[in-house]
Amino acid sequence: MIKKKTIDQMRVPAGKKVRLRDYDPGWAQTPELKEAGKEAVKQRAAEILEANLAELATAQELLWASDSHSILIVLQAMDAAGKDGIIKHVMSGVNPQGCQVFSFKKPSDEDIDHNFLWRYMRCLPERGRIGIFNRSYYEDVLVVKVHPELLDRQKLPGKRGEGFWQKRYEDINAFEHHLVRNGTLILKFFLHISKDEQKQRFLERLENPDKHWKFSEADLAERAFWDEYTEAFEDMLSATSTKWAPWYVIPADSKWVSRTVVADILTTGIKSLHLKFPKVSEEKRTALAEAKKQLDQE
Ligand code: AMP
Ligand code: MG
Repeated sequence: MIKKKTIDQMRVPAGKKVRLRDYDPGWAQTPELKEAGKEAVKQRAAEILEANLAELATAQELLWASDSHSILIVLQAMDAAGKDGIIKHVMSGVNPQGCQVFSFKKPSDEDIDHNFLWRYMRCLPERGRIGIFNRSYYEDVLVVKVHPELLDRQKLPGKRGEGFWQKRYEDINAFEHHLVRNGTLILKFFLHISKDEQKQRFLERLENPDKHWKFSEADLAERAFWDEYTEAFEDMLSATSTKWAPWYVIPADSKWVSRTVVADILTTGIKSLHLKFPKVSEEKRTALAEAKKQLDQE
């Protein structure tokens, strides 16, 4: 497990005004780590990841069996920050039956004809399951805030100033509170990548023919809005990190760091629910004994 203190530093306290430059996207988060050296820390991270993945499989089985809670994982980030890799690696050990992933793209005409939370509500995980939102309703206060012309498709009543976004944050907080009160554990991860690291990853996609498919010209166009996105992320993190659904700012310049940290928070989160396998009633126990007797007599 990663030290609680380290994870606590990544959790955004409710009401905090977030400045992303205060969060280091690199691996050397503390002088202690820096002193240990990259290779040693990387090796330790691999061990922690492995232990967490093993525990995660057990935790998921318990989640499924107890059928009282669901987990909603929300992933938000700039392009190339590693959302897909997190999903692929962190969920590699879980039972696919108890897990679902939704990747949200531009809303359809049908989506647009409803309130902005509608399309996400339909994809929420049922009890016993882990649901992953690869992008989410947060896009409606991120890409839509950076490109407010996207709102033109929606015939929304009211004005569109700063108050408009405040109300969206309030709606999101209330929506998440509702989910938590109904047994959903919400874990929100902002994968924090530096502008330099994004450039390196884009170049890698352009230079390696096997990765060409990963590059979209739209990614470069969005990179030009880096500062606007940073501001939108800061506003969103400040307004929507709540006691019931806090944000974690995950250092994402090294994939091995982000994967280890996310796996750790996820396993710790499920364990914190103190789930128990369902108790078998006296009646059921008698029925089981009867079934065994019948089979024995065959
Ligand atoms: P990708 O995840 O790379 O496949 O890209 C999905 C694209 O859909 C991104 O450019 C997002 O900004 C965009 N997108 C996701 N949700 C929304 C939304 N609610 N409104 C507008 N664009 C969105
Ligand atoms: Mg993309």
